[in-house]
Amino acid sequence: MKANLKINITVKEICDGFEYNEFEGKGLYGLGGKLTIQPEYQRNYIYALGDGKKEMAVIDSILNGYPIGLIYFNKISKDKFEVLDGQQRITSLGRFITQKFPIKDRDSGNMQLFEGMAQDKKNKIFNTKLTIYIVEGSESEIKEWFKTINIVGVPLNEQEKLNAFYSGPFVTLAKEEFSNSNNAKVQMWGAYVKGVVERQAFLERALDWVSKGNIDYYMSNHRYDKNISELKKYFNKVIDWISNIFNDVENEMCGLEWGRLYEKYKNESYNTNSVSKKKNDLYADPFVTDKKGIFEFILGSSKDYKLLNIRIFDTTTKRSTYASQTKKAKSQNKSNCSYCAIGHGVNKNKIWAFDKMEADHVAAWIKGGPTRATNCEMLCVPHNRAKGNK
Ligand SMILES: [Zn+2]
Repeated sequence: MKANLKINITVKEICDGFEYNEFEGKGLYGLGGKLTIQPEYQRNYIYALGDGKKEMAVIDSILNGYPIGLIYFNKISKDKFEVLDGQQRITSLGRFITQKFPIKDRDSGNMQLFEGMAQDKKNKIFNTKLTIYIVEGSESEIKEWFKTINIVGVPLNEQEKLNAFYSGPFVTLAKEEFSNSNNAKVQMWGAYVKGVVERQAFLERALDWVSKGNIDYYMSNHRYDKNISELKKYFNKVIDWISNIFNDVENEMCGLEWGRLYEKYKNESYNTNSVSKKKNDLYADPFVTDKKGIFEFILGSSKDYKLLNIRIFDTTTKRSTYASQTKKAKSQNKSNCSYCAIGHGVNKNKIWAFDKMEADHVAAWIKGGPTRATNCEMLCVPHNRAKGNK
């Protein structure tokens, strides 16, 4: 089966020679007679049903410059086409241009037929280019293909649309590698990449990584390439990089932004054993509430604690820590903030009120691993904030 994308056919060309059969409720021909709009097996025109809102919406979309979606033609012979998908939209356009229904003019608020419209608006409709996919093949091939692109109730996702749009040797090869559930590597990749392989999730990720997020641009630039070596090489480089640093696979690794992490940390070096130990410690730590953040935390030399979303001390723990700390401080005639107490300033002996102090959870957590109550230390707000900013 062959498929070919056309983006230069205008509404005017499509509607050339349009006829609507009132009796059968069908749009018949277009493209100067070369196009059969509603072949026998297609359902009748339904956009005019009810109050005709749907057919008016098609015209409104065109006037607003919104896309009306992909249209599919089946090429029957040289110069003979049938509409596979899009007959409702094309019939709406044809019916409007042949004065079958009016739309509400946005400027005047009046109902207006095509002929009564301002010339610039008429031109806008006539000159709008449609995105048309022309397929060619045996009836069973086409039906099979049409069934897969048109899975009932499941619209094409972004990557599936891009694959259709940029179809060619590159997409074919890329799908063989990344969209093929029989590829033995898919299971290994699935540890790091989230989504359904058949719905192009892996291909999308591979393209996302190599293009640094510009999938559309990358696909248009490589559309006619006869190899996918750059795409494959980059993807494997990222996967190898992850699996070399992190020896074990954890569920939380699936779906992380590995492409970004690779670019950011690829020049750092890591000791696999200490990475593994660090990772296990953090997994075992009940105060690390964001397990997904562990990987970037380790990659970034264990500095960015925000990534771990450390659970903070609860009020009971803070109150009891405050009480014992303050009692002890008073008996020693020192400040109940240990930082104030060791200083020589005016706050050397100051007893801070509970609401003027904060639990130094991150520092305690770094010192003692798990943030147990025994690790909780209350510090005056200025000292705690000053520490936190280091
Ligand atoms: Zn202090």
